[in-house]
Amino acid sequence: MDNVATLRKLYLHCRERGIEVDSHTAAIAIRAAGGYAGIRDGYYGVIVDSIIKYLTDEAGRLQTKNFIKKEMLTAFTDAFETGWVETGGDPYEPEPEDNEWLTTRINQELAYIDGLFVTMRAMLEDTEEPLTLSDIDQYAEARAAGYAATLDSIYSQGKLRGKKNVMLSLEGQDGAASCSTCQKYKGVSHRARWWISHDLIPGPGSSYECGGWQCFHVLQDSEGNQWAGTQG
Ligand SMILES: [Zn+2]
Repeated sequence: MDNVATLRKLYLHCRERGIEVDSHTAAIAIRAAGGYAGIRDGYYGVIVDSIIKYLTDEAGRLQTKNFIKKEMLTAFTDAFETGWVETGGDPYEPEPEDNEWLTTRINQELAYIDGLFVTMRAMLEDTEEPLTLSDIDQYAEARAAGYAATLDSIYSQGKLRGKKNVMLSLEGQDGAASCSTCQKYKGVSHRARWWISHDLIPGPGSSYECGGWQCFHVLQDSEGNQWAGTQG
């Protein structure tokens, strides 16, 4: 293992145990996770595999649920921190409200995961329409796409919170059904902190009337770089 990989391992160890890491070291260790694309691909794969395993394999169902929860916790924290250091840079010094936001969002997601397993249990118990392997694959891929889109919004939150003064405007395409929030803010510019405090960072779970996942809107800076929006 090289030095950076060792540092990364130590950092994760401290993070899991709530041990504080100095903010310069944290920034280096966070970058060692690699780019967001890798974090996203890994999470997508974990969700697909776990759902298929749960729906096809009697053994280890409880472990599968706990495994997804643990992987979500890691992916959310990695996505948020990676976004933050990309824009906020070194040192990694989120404000208490940023950490509180992430903790609340993780707890919400834990509840959604419980809901996913309630749905899957019902699917398994439906003896009138037993699941085929192709049903299971389709279901797993659709759910994983949704979970990855949620992860995109966590990454976006990290980026915007890392640089709260940057000016961003809402661009991109309406979805199949547009909504009054999208129409109201299309082309409008505000600082990142405004989009954060109004809960209008495009993505699942935001305060858009359309739910923020049916449209293809993004937040862009004046040079056309994308700061928020689904990556898939
Ligand atoms: Zn909308």
